[in-house]
Amino acid sequence: MQKKKIGIPYALYFYEYYPLWKEFLTRLGAEVILSQPTNKKILDLGIRSALSEVCLPVKIFYGHVLSLSEQVDYILIPRMVCIERGAFFCPKMIGLPDMVRSSLQNLPTQLTPIIDVRQSYGTWKNSLMEVGKLITDNSSEISRAFSDSWKIFQQNYLANILEPNLLFKSSIQNNIPKKPRKDIEIPVNIAVLGHNYLTNDSYVNMDLINKLKKMNVNVLTPEIVHPAIIKKQLKKLYKPIFWSLSRKVVGAAFYYFEKKVDGIIHLTSFECGEDSMVGELIHHQSQKYPDVSYTEFVFDEHSGEAGINTRIEAFLDMIRRKKRYEIGLTPSW
Ligand code: SF4
Repeated sequence: MQKKKIGIPYALYFYEYYPLWKEFLTRLGAEVILSQPTNKKILDLGIRSALSEVCLPVKIFYGHVLSLSEQVDYILIPRMVCIERGAFFCPKMIGLPDMVRSSLQNLPTQLTPIIDVRQSYGTWKNSLMEVGKLITDNSSEISRAFSDSWKIFQQNYLANILEPNLLFKSSIQNNIPKKPRKDIEIPVNIAVLGHNYLTNDSYVNMDLINKLKKMNVNVLTPEIVHPAIIKKQLKKLYKPIFWSLSRKVVGAAFYYFEKKVDGIIHLTSFECGEDSMVGELIHHQSQKYPDVSYTEFVFDEHSGEAGINTRIEAFLDMIRRKKRYEIGLTPSW
């Protein structure tokens, strides 16, 4: 029998959950096809088919869906509602299957399981079981595939997180050469924060992380901050944040401010309600830590690489001049 081909768009929440879905569907014998990393063609496809007021990551998601449409039997577009107590996904992600259906025509059948752990039908297990029934009618096989994939997903996820303090010490770079000949020899620790579909999509963020690394920057991200630390940091807020994805960004920002990294860059999307509020919150917090340089890069489809390069260079230049002054070296200009 021919394998069922299931397409997964390489965008939005799949930066987090792709390994789980891939493991589960492959174990059941489906062929999983992941769309290509974002490129100009995908971006253009998304921009042409989406309403202009939609945020850039959703437009990109549309582009990925369209790029898969002729290669697969099904496209997986879960409706992500709630994965933890008291917090939700943003309205665009909750309505994503409906938005895709109303904006894009001639698509393969969409698989739209609901992940809403408040409801019995929306637990991870029940949602994946529903999708599994399309591939096989053997429920014990589906159940086994779920347990195995879930275990692997959890183990891999936890393996990426070390014991918090150890992690920070092993991640941070402080060994400044006694007499750096050039400013680039002065190591800098910068936290790059934002939703992981912005921080990890190098086409959208214009390869920001690699550019920083080439400039001798030690890049820190929200993913390496232990969930227990994020939780502790969030207790500093008067009111809990009710967006799951932003909890991680704010908790990590507060942690890195407290650890006095050299700088924080917050990546946000134009047209994103969450980012506009969370950006203000982080900016407000930055005023309590004048030693930590802070900036925000806002992305939309009109962002230009030259502008981003100039801003990175200016930000680093400012931090390195400050460090030169701190270690008693004359400025290099
Ligand atoms: S959180 Fe913001 S950027 Fe992400 S999908 Fe929702 S509106 Fe778009």
